[in-house]
Amino acid sequence: MPKTLDELSKKIGVSISQLQKKAAELGFALKEEKIDNDLADLLIEELQKTEDKTKVYDILFDREIEKEIIKTQRKKTAGKPSGPIKPSARKPLVGKKEILQTVIEISDLITIKELSEKTGVNAIKIIGELMKNGILANINQQIDFETASIVADDLGIKLKKKRAQASVEDLLKGNLRALLKEDEEELKEKPPIVTVMGHVDHGKTKLLDAIRQTDVASKEAGGITQHIGAYQVEKDGKKITFIDTPGHEAFTAMRARGAKVTDIVILVIAADEGIKPQTIEALNHAKEAKVPIIVAINKIDKEGANADRVKTQIAELGLQPEDWGGNTPVVSVSALTNQGIPDLLQTILIVAELQNLKANPNREAVCTIIEAHLDKNLGPVATVIVNTGTLKISDNIVVGSCYGKIKIMRNHLNKNTKEALPSMPIMIAGLSKTPEPGDILQVVKTPDDAKQKAFAIETIRQHEGARKISAIESIISQIKNKKLKLLKIILKADTNGSLEALKNSLLKIKTEEVSVSIIHSGIGNITESDIMMAKASEGMIIGFSITASRNVRKLAEEEGIQIFTYTVIYQAIEDIKNLLAGLLEPEIIINEIGKAKVLKIFMTGKKEMIAGCRITEGKLIAKSKLRVKRNEKLIGEGILSSLRDVDKTVPELTEGHECGVKFTGNVKLQEDDILEAFQEELKKRSL
Ligand code: GDP
Repeated sequence: MPKTLDELSKKIGVSISQLQKKAAELGFALKEEKIDNDLADLLIEELQKTEDKTKVYDILFDREIEKEIIKTQRKKTAGKPSGPIKPSARKPLVGKKEILQTVIEISDLITIKELSEKTGVNAIKIIGELMKNGILANINQQIDFETASIVADDLGIKLKKKRAQASVEDLLKGNLRALLKEDEEELKEKPPIVTVMGHVDHGKTKLLDAIRQTDVASKEAGGITQHIGAYQVEKDGKKITFIDTPGHEAFTAMRARGAKVTDIVILVIAADEGIKPQTIEALNHAKEAKVPIIVAINKIDKEGANADRVKTQIAELGLQPEDWGGNTPVVSVSALTNQGIPDLLQTILIVAELQNLKANPNREAVCTIIEAHLDKNLGPVATVIVNTGTLKISDNIVVGSCYGKIKIMRNHLNKNTKEALPSMPIMIAGLSKTPEPGDILQVVKTPDDAKQKAFAIETIRQHEGARKISAIESIISQIKNKKLKLLKIILKADTNGSLEALKNSLLKIKTEEVSVSIIHSGIGNITESDIMMAKASEGMIIGFSITASRNVRKLAEEEGIQIFTYTVIYQAIEDIKNLLAGLLEPEIIINEIGKAKVLKIFMTGKKEMIAGCRITEGKLIAKSKLRVKRNEKLIGEGILSSLRDVDKTVPELTEGHECGVKFTGNVKLQEDDILEAFQEELKKRSL
């Protein structure tokens, strides 16, 4: 094999510069006279294209195996006096680690150089393998995971996609889906997380208490449970998590922040009262969230209880009871006597099984904040439910713009714990500040990572806030200038459910002076035709849980169309409310400041006069407005353009002072006129 460029050039009849060019194409610099054997082989193959490629790379592969054998032998004989085995004279171009490692984690994209470093396979061999598969790539080129896997497979190496750390945007938006991307094989069954909803006084709280009290584990712990916002019970060796804040408000607030923590909803309906308005509201929230519903007909012990009537009512609402051939599980219970509670738990487990609820306990945790407050001893504490992973004591965490290290973990039985598995509710202490319910908690590697992510989130929040205000202001001025009092909106959303929910809420925001008109609505991403429609009708676009492509955004910018996208309904409503509040003519509030009597006229100009006055009440402030009264009659208005105390110009003077007043206005002042000073304050009206 030629050892120098010169020799190689002569051997294959290709000039040195051609060799260098080809090598450069493959990502190698050939500056020195000496040439690596592997590279020489590759160049021969590439430039002559005579030999069968497969053969060349099989030879290369054999050499690698040979090296491995030598290495293994060296390891085996290490420390034995049997004399050294000469290491291979050839040095790989890229640092070589272990070959044939079992599973190696790589990212979505990797350069050949990085792949070589990670796998310990010579870069040239990787390039060769790629060529066998018809891909020409140089050492610094990136290949995707799938391509890398094909090559690695051929080399006997198994690659695994590294779990991407969540982006700050995902954390910010509570985009759990992005955070929980998992390999199917790593997922394990997780306990269901249940929320109890229903009309007021139908027994939600009582039911939650009854369930808690039937739990064996809490009985063993002396029955003393700590209200931390959620708890877990065990039924037939399986756990169930209950969120301990009944009602759909908390559920919606969480959902509104992007958190989708509930797996199953229990709709509590009192057997004696049946369906009530809040029952329907709760049902719609659960439907909108696409969470399976179990109906618990409560107070079955009561006189007048009529489970069949409730079943008829729910069937009318589209919840066909299972025992009537439908698919809504219905359980009759009494939170007072505990009748039916084991049945209800059993039903939850069956529904959970059908849902195939899974999470990966073997990863860093991602959790949702259920509640948080400032504890006088522990500082900021939060109850979290683990969505996936295992949360451990001393984990570095980031939650929105809060960060920290978990110092204390306590379960709902008030027991200190060291770790929390998926679906487990746990109270934690160690955060820098108190987070918000619905915020997402993520475990990161180092305290610095946590701080940086929290800081990045804070910055984005501030930036987004600032950007949004200016966009809203620009709409306000547009509409104001054209004297429009109708805010025209094009509404796009991901699902019919969210579209309807948002539409209804937005249409409710109106006053006599300002109203919202939805001129078009539809499902799917924002398109160029939406922009054009907004342009034609001088409207704006609201998107919910959808995006606009770069081209569409560019067009919107060119056309001056505002696009607001949201993942949270209440945020959209808030923004539109603010927008409309800005559109309202501001309220003028008059603040009376003081009065003065004109004593003498010093100078009379065209529109200006200078008069000597005495302040009789309150004070005079320069630049304030003046009402002129003569014999108690208003004769005109003007401005106190400047105020003089003897020979000094002053900003204000108080009662009892004599002063010089420069008056600007159309009224001709006379002695004994009364000047009433006042200021106007513009107050933004809110809806
Ligand atoms: P919530 O507003 O839905 O949380 O309702 P509560 O749990 O506070 O219950 C309202 C009232 O109904 C309380 O006085 C409870 O004691 C009573 N209650 C709840 N469940 C039952 C039950 O199964 N049977 C009877 N007889 N009363 C119940």
